Amino acid sequence: MSRTQNTRLICPLTEATPNAMRDAMTRAVAAGATAVEYRLDFLSKHPDDETLALLLADVPVETIVTYRPTRQGGHYEGGEDVRLRTLGRASELGATFIDVEDDVPLADRPEGSTILSYHNFDTVPDDVASRAASIGASRPAINKLACHAEHPADAMRMLDLIDATDQPTIALAMGEAGVLTRLLAHKCGAAGTFATLASESASAPGQPALSDMTGLYRFDRASSNAEIYGVVGCPVGHSMSPAIHNTAFDACDYDAIYLPLLVEPGEESFNRLMDAMVARPELAFHGLSVTIPHKENALAWVGADRCDELSAKIGAINTISLSADGSIRGTNTDYAAAIDALCDAMGIQRADLENYRTTVIGAGGEARAIVAALNHYGCVPTIYNRTLSRAEAIADQFGGTALPLDAVESLEADIVINCTPIGMYPHVDASPLETIPDDVQVVFDTIYNPLETQLIAKAKQRGLLTVSGIDMFVNQAVAQFELWTQRPAPRDVMRQVVLEKLGQTHA
Ligand code: NAP
Repeated sequence: MSRTQNTRLICPLTEATPNAMRDAMTRAVAAGATAVEYRLDFLSKHPDDETLALLLADVPVETIVTYRPTRQGGHYEGGEDVRLRTLGRASELGATFIDVEDDVPLADRPEGSTILSYHNFDTVPDDVASRAASIGASRPAINKLACHAEHPADAMRMLDLIDATDQPTIALAMGEAGVLTRLLAHKCGAAGTFATLASESASAPGQPALSDMTGLYRFDRASSNAEIYGVVGCPVGHSMSPAIHNTAFDACDYDAIYLPLLVEPGEESFNRLMDAMVARPELAFHGLSVTIPHKENALAWVGADRCDELSAKIGAINTISLSADGSIRGTNTDYAAAIDALCDAMGIQRADLENYRTTVIGAGGEARAIVAALNHYGCVPTIYNRTLSRAEAIADQFGGTALPLDAVESLEADIVINCTPIGMYPHVDASPLETIPDDVQVVFDTIYNPLETQLIAKAKQRGLLTVSGIDMFVNQAVAQFELWTQRPAPRDVMRQVVLEKLGQTHA
């Protein structure tokens, strides 16, 4: 991507009165908007010349005036002649652009610098490229296409439209899966992208807030050559990874953007994303964090031969690296993150783990990774789980003894590792152990929300060494950052982001 141009950061204004809209314009400009879109169809009354003049006088940024009819997803229900005349007046009264829908016949289009727009609220149609070409044929000031995407691969097809023309183009995918079109607009050389004053005032689903755009998503700090990273999962809306990694990029002045990528469950859906990325090297995707439910799909796509031995054995990866030369690698930073959090707290090396009796509570994905790693370093754990057969399966594959969860109170171990969600927010009063047996010296709870679980609190009361899930969580993000950027991660900054996010959760 070498196109460089002014990508407008446009804030749509959807207030019900002209004065409120004007106030919102002032706030939007203060928040970093470089253009505002007056959505006249949100006004409670049809705007006369006086209203238009009030809205358009002395605005310090470019103005777009839109009067969207209901047939195009807007609120205007009146006659078409009045609507188009109003847009013409807005142009005469100083609007930088007027937005005219592509279904308005050429002969009826008002005079003015026009954004010619196409909307599809259902899908990115197969013929979207020819639609873009037909919009461009009348040479408007800006071509605009906005379609609903169910999958990030469809969103990438929208970005292709910008690359396919020399004309100024805004190409957006609506919906959560389409967020990447908004966050990568600047990198891809779009003529503009939209962001709202507050997320709840969005005039189209998936629009980020201005503050997130300029802060978290580095709108004015990442260049057209920025490397792209992201977290793939379902859901991803509440993932802390975009905040952690983007803040780390900022701290290191590293030219990159980290995105949330919503991909519905299923191997086919995951593969579609990866194929779309690989087919577009110009987007410069360099790495992915993979979370539930795609960790096994990720391993299958990368291939065990391109993963380290232990990750392949675990059967799930949470990290993919995509190099500029086309090479692909997969790894699981979870197990190393957990083992290192434990060893660092104990002041021992991984190889010393063989000297400790260890109990793992739980037999899900985390337990599996941790049991595999423990065995790898010579420590054969006892695994307690509600569903005994799952504990048995892990013990059979990696080594260990499987026992039912109701026997856990009589465990005998030096180290206890909780890999269940028992005690996790909002069930903060629960604990996988009523009392911690006398032998135990170290308690590691992989839960990081809350920072101090009941289990950790009990262990602290006993004066035991404790390890919190936050150390593991930060470790895995640090490992990803260092793998991708080949430079030391700003660990303290990343940890602080997690602490702040968790603080907000409980505020
Ligand atoms: P998972 O695959 O869904 O496994 C959940 C495990 O917890 C299973 O063994 C399940 O038992 C058990 N379990 C769930 N609810 C239970 C209950 N009410 N009573 C008894 N056992 C219960 O989840 P996972 O991916 O392994 O994650 C497990 C935990 O690890 C998470 O809750 C999270 O707190 C923690 N974690 C931490 C980090 C970090 O970075 N710190 C990262 C990921 C996960 P059954 O087999 O009987 O269903």
